Amino acid sequence: MTAPSTEPRAPRMRGALSRPAAPSEAWAQESLAALERQGLLRELEPLESPQGPVIHLGKRRLLNFSSNDYLGLAADPALSAAARTAAMSFGHGAGASRLIVGDTTAHHALEEALARFFGAEAALLFNSGYAANVGVLSTVAGDGDVIFSDALNHASIVDGCRLSRASTVVYPHRDVAALDALLEQHGGRRRVVVTDAVFSMDGDRAPLRELSAVCARHGAALMVDEAHALGVLGPTGAGLCELTRVAADIRVGTMGKALGGFGAFALSSSLVRSWLVNRARSLIFSTSLPASLCAASQAALERVEKDPTLRERLWRNIGQFSQGLKALGRPAHEDSAVFSVVLGEPQRALKASQALRAKGVLAKPIRPPTVPHGTSRLRFSLSAAHTPEHIAQALEALHDL
Ligand code: PMP
Repeated sequence: MTAPSTEPRAPRMRGALSRPAAPSEAWAQESLAALERQGLLRELEPLESPQGPVIHLGKRRLLNFSSNDYLGLAADPALSAAARTAAMSFGHGAGASRLIVGDTTAHHALEEALARFFGAEAALLFNSGYAANVGVLSTVAGDGDVIFSDALNHASIVDGCRLSRASTVVYPHRDVAALDALLEQHGGRRRVVVTDAVFSMDGDRAPLRELSAVCARHGAALMVDEAHALGVLGPTGAGLCELTRVAADIRVGTMGKALGGFGAFALSSSLVRSWLVNRARSLIFSTSLPASLCAASQAALERVEKDPTLRERLWRNIGQFSQGLKALGRPAHEDSAVFSVVLGEPQRALKASQALRAKGVLAKPIRPPTVPHGTSRLRFSLSAAHTPEHIAQALEALHDL
């Protein structure tokens, strides 16, 4: 990783032969240098291959343990074919937001398929999980309301809380008794409890049954983000609500992980869906998803419904990896497809990731602000597409560390 030089770099604007350094360059320089000192500088790394268990990155062939492609669908040719067919029918661009003229029958077909699959009254598409969390939270809560949010919820939930202008009470991770006491303490016009179903960086599960009971006792709404549970948990892969038989007021799911695509959705009653259509700014003021992505997601959903062997393979892999971690003396759960090897300071995670990469295994270092300070780590996510040999190789590389 190259350190930013101490001098502001020469401007690279086309057509501008010379100009004084822009203020933004000095700001960027200062901020990047601070990140570099703390071991928190990040860089983009373009793949030279499709997504999958084996990828090509910077001319190297690496075993990939960093994608959220839990069912190995991201590069599935049948899904690409579904996208292509829809692109040939509808064109590749949506042209406008959904409420203007960016709505197609492909969007509605996917929403109907999602509502049916999840047993929900209604589904509403969003452009990403980030946009869904921000849009839903800022619709259901506002000034005078209170959102109770788990301390390890995803950044998009954190940002949704901020954007909503509701007061946010952060409760200790998975601590239902603490939440109960906080609900007792904090009144508000509307109260919403929001949690990841599977926490994205630790892979542990929210205590949904207990959370749901506490919400019912206090008259609070429960919102669950199923991003890392969809396609992984539940008898049909519908997530943690399905597994625990909890009826959340609103569920959010994304197509970018187990469904191998892009986009997201909120599941709710039809009335709440209409509310979101009218108030969710991330839906109203953003160009809608292209129809091709909707068609690919619908094909992915059908695959998940028809082919339980994907989930079975994933769970065999989870079992193998979990056993292997335990054999290395590391704590390991069997809650989800996400595993963390917590190392502490960012530099330790960086070095460990580089050492693994030298052995052909990619587990990207995860550092603040993605995880709390002092808990920088390697995050491994498993896929149905990994073979037992891939997993054995990753464990061997970890052992050598
Ligand atoms: N929620 C959770 C729990 C996530 O982990 C993520 C993505 N990392 C998102 C929401 C955002 O989803 P998307 O990538 O579709 O924006």
